[in-house]
Amino acid sequence: MLVNTKEMLAAAQQGGYAVAAFNVYSLETVQAAIRAAEQEGQPVILALGERYFPTVDVEGFAALVRALAAKAFVGVALHLDHAYEKASIIRAIRSGFTSVMYDGSKFDLEENIRRTKEITEIAHMAGVSVEAEIGSTARGDFSDEEEGTGALTDPDAARRFVAETKVDFLAAAIGTVHGMYVGEPKVDLELLERIRESVGIPLVLHGGSGTPDDIIAKAIRLGICKINVNTEVSMAANVYLQNFLTTSTDANKAHLSTIMAGMQRAMEPVMTKFIRLLAHK
Ligand SMILES: [Zn+2]
Repeated sequence: MLVNTKEMLAAAQQGGYAVAAFNVYSLETVQAAIRAAEQEGQPVILALGERYFPTVDVEGFAALVRALAAKAFVGVALHLDHAYEKASIIRAIRSGFTSVMYDGSKFDLEENIRRTKEITEIAHMAGVSVEAEIGSTARGDFSDEEEGTGALTDPDAARRFVAETKVDFLAAAIGTVHGMYVGEPKVDLELLERIRESVGIPLVLHGGSGTPDDIIAKAIRLGICKINVNTEVSMAANVYLQNFLTTSTDANKAHLSTIMAGMQRAMEPVMTKFIRLLAHK
């Protein structure tokens, strides 16, 4: 069933677990995420980033996700990931997304507050919840996101940001990166604890891919309720495709439908791994 993201994350916060948010941009990514969630009996968030708007028909895709979510026997939320433009937020709200992320992290605190507040006022009127970010997630290898500064979230700024903007969940920049880590991950769990003490709303961790399991488990214990995963899933499909093309004798005669089904199958175990890890208390 389609579930409001805010309710889903309130339950996670209450229950001390986190919900996986997978980036989706095709039928295969959506089907893989819902299948993995159903197999594990856990809720899931399907996130379409603004950066996929040029290649994905947003209204049609939202209708597809909502139809598949309605059939699912676990909770499914439809989230807009990293939106920089107000027009994208409005488009997502009109298309039936259950939450949106406004990313004003490139602006200074005052400007980020001003812009984010405008978004929450609009989204809340439509019953749509809002995620925002202060501090900025840096970019590692194989990432499909914009470059961030890697500036960590200041707990006092977080408190003020949440109070003034009325956002529903906050992306805390604590050293995870978009994409795969270059070198050892340096995740500041002590900072996460201070952020959690400063704000009461569910916290979000961007850059789940490649983050060690024990860090993810600790982050969940320290208040992370949603973890975004994109790159690791994409890489699994990519590896499948490369193997298929190099090992299959008749690869050049293979039908695209077979290849895409194979890519979906390759994504499912990665998603299952994250769902299992996040559901663990
Ligand atoms: Zn992100």
